[in-house]
Amino acid sequence: MQTEQGISNCPQCAHQIRVDRRYVIWCDKCDWNVHPTGTDDQPLPAWRQRLEHKLADTLYRELEHGATHRPGWDAARIGAYLMSAVVLLVPVLSLLAGIALVVFYRPLWLSILLSLIPFGVAVLLRPRAYHLSSDAHIVERAQAPTLFALLDEIAAAIGTKPIVAVAVNAIPNVFFARVGWRFQPVLGLGLPLWESLRPQERVAILAHELGHGKNGDARHGWVVGTADSVLCELQATFSEEPYDQYRQDLIYARDGDTSVSLVGKLLDVTLGNAVRGYAWLLNKVDLRSSQRAEYLADRRAAEIAGSDATARALERTLLAEASYRALERAVRFEKDVAPLEAVRRAVTEVPAREIERHARVSRIRDTRVDSTHPPTYLRTKLIRARPSQHALVVLGTDQSRAIDRELAPAAEAVLKELRAQF
Ligand SMILES: [Zn+2]
Ligand SMILES: [Zn+2]
Repeated sequence: MQTEQGISNCPQCAHQIRVDRRYVIWCDKCDWNVHPTGTDDQPLPAWRQRLEHKLADTLYRELEHGATHRPGWDAARIGAYLMSAVVLLVPVLSLLAGIALVVFYRPLWLSILLSLIPFGVAVLLRPRAYHLSSDAHIVERAQAPTLFALLDEIAAAIGTKPIVAVAVNAIPNVFFARVGWRFQPVLGLGLPLWESLRPQERVAILAHELGHGKNGDARHGWVVGTADSVLCELQATFSEEPYDQYRQDLIYARDGDTSVSLVGKLLDVTLGNAVRGYAWLLNKVDLRSSQRAEYLADRRAAEIAGSDATARALERTLLAEASYRALERAVRFEKDVAPLEAVRRAVTEVPAREIERHARVSRIRDTRVDSTHPPTYLRTKLIRARPSQHALVVLGTDQSRAIDRELAPAAEAVLKELRAQF
């Protein structure tokens, strides 16, 4: 008879392994099958892997030795700002060029016609405010007094502005954003992650996100993100690919005249390459700055929620994808279990060995792919390496349940949409 639990041997190194058929079977000695579906669809080139491993390592050591104190104005961040400012000049200069044309160039009908080009470029490349996605359900202060009291307490402890609204959705993440042209601080709560956290772990995750707010990471993200979208737009304009089919047709129509294709190639090789190189460099510089920002937000979280809860909360985030799958399964197939209860159960039942497997996957994968965040195992290691901190803000079980009740209407709306989707 086959049982769910048992002992087997590793097919790779013959080491004895514990088998729990509800989870992936893997070897703790040689990491056999630690990530059965593979770590990445497209493995990165070796030089890039080496670069990112080295980056992760030097940054970790810098923070471990306490060399970074002030968040914000490190060389990488200033570099990313300057590079972005240069890019953001493109729409500004286009606008000025358009105005100059209309004012100084005559005849007027021709100058208006010509100015449409720079004005068009300015409109196409204009900076845009960040908006929440349409599936986010907004919870205001009056609807969730306990949650906002907690958020205010954390914000006051960190020394940052209070959160204006909370957006509930179904993504396996919790995030901080500045929304609209008034840059209002908004907290995004993804149910699969939020529901899987124990009370003090919730404080840690919230403190981490508000720490991003205090450290100016959302503003930085907006500036670099806007510059990045301008570069994307320029890349699409100068690269050959998007108009290839159109060009081919044109060539047919002109019976072998390849001048259009040549111009395209020339633009791609010159301007296209310049834009791609610039975007690559901006990305690399920003990578450094955003990884440092994560460590510093973790440090804030440990000060507010305590080191222990913060390290455990980060380990929980490793299970966020699994939580999302549990939610999806419950919504689709399990009619007699409340989906959020299914999420909580799926996560609290996970044995330590399975969490360890996720940590090992993150060690392999996050150093490579998840480049904006340092690998989780380094983040927890850094928190545990520093002198342990006691919590400044404590969330009790009753308060945590009260928050769940306050979020219930928004959560129900999110689940309803999720059901409609499947
Ligand atoms: Zn093995
Ligand atoms: Zn973060």
